Amino acid sequence: MSNNSRDIEVPARLSQLLLAPEETLLSLKKLMTRAEPPQALLLTGEEGLGKESLAHAMAARWLCRKPDPEGACGACESCLKWSSSQHPDLYAIAPSPDQIKIEQIREARQWMNFAPVVAPFRAIVILQAETLNLHAANALLKTLEEPPESYFFLLTSNGTDSILPTVLSRCRIARLAPIEIPVLSSWLKSEWGLEAVKAQQIAEYAAGAPGKALEWARALSDDKEAPFLKGLDQMLNCLETLSELEPFAALRAADEFRDACKQLEAAMPSRSSRFALAKGLELLIEWYRDTLSLDHGSSDIHFQSRLDALNRLRKRFPAHKRSADLEQIIDIRRYVLGNANAQIATESLFILLLSNSSIEMQPL
Ligand SMILES: [Zn+2]
Repeated sequence: MSNNSRDIEVPARLSQLLLAPEETLLSLKKLMTRAEPPQALLLTGEEGLGKESLAHAMAARWLCRKPDPEGACGACESCLKWSSSQHPDLYAIAPSPDQIKIEQIREARQWMNFAPVVAPFRAIVILQAETLNLHAANALLKTLEEPPESYFFLLTSNGTDSILPTVLSRCRIARLAPIEIPVLSSWLKSEWGLEAVKAQQIAEYAAGAPGKALEWARALSDDKEAPFLKGLDQMLNCLETLSELEPFAALRAADEFRDACKQLEAAMPSRSSRFALAKGLELLIEWYRDTLSLDHGSSDIHFQSRLDALNRLRKRFPAHKRSADLEQIIDIRRYVLGNANAQIATESLFILLLSNSSIEMQPL
């Protein structure tokens, strides 16, 4: 049986990864100059920030026999094993299909009875550690408490909320943040030859997550009419109408919003419709945050390319209503991820957003 539950890419060197804001990269580089890996390191942050690529780059660095500050050498016996995608000292665990189960941890523990084969250490990479179920997490905890010599653990997760605190307490935690949109956008222009407008759109839609931006930039270079760009346009056009529609048009607006989410989903076929709707709601959240940032004169605006529309929304609705609406959108997104009926949730949301008064506030 294979010890890799998915194909492992040949890991990049740190300088090849556009992963994180400069300061995060600097501290990771510092960590990577240590001769010994941390016992357990958790890379956490939103989806699309490149946590998996980074985990593999870091694993490769400590499995490499001649590493330098930029990572693995790419040429030693250990590094050459990566290209065969069956590195004997690497064990990767990923959810199967949506959970990491105790059997997977037990199998890993059996693998841990042996000394390194070609590398100075052995690495266990656990992807999406937030999907460890309780039994699996407890089994992992035992291992982390009494780690065998020469072994280290690299975990990734989209958040730390659903990871057992006892597991967290055994890990060194590195939080990755999105990179600034202008930085991402100019990277897309220089590395991928994208036109300025498209690079800006992708960087905005990816909300500064380079993994996502890269996925779409690749899709674009394969297909100039990539469906997600159409979906994205449709979505942003839909958000623009919020400053113009009358309240009676709320149901139609909700319908168009769900349709735009569907288009985005079609562009990312691996996603579920629930995920697509949550993603659409994230864009709506950024949209409202942008209007509030503009109120405060902040220059940290996601949708730079839609400034006019953002300003129209500011003109139509006062800041206190937009601020209250933002809270509601965040709640609705949570309900949607928690199985709420998508149609009812979006319809009640758009009725609220287009109503001309803010939520009734009880006098204090
Ligand atoms: Zn090497």
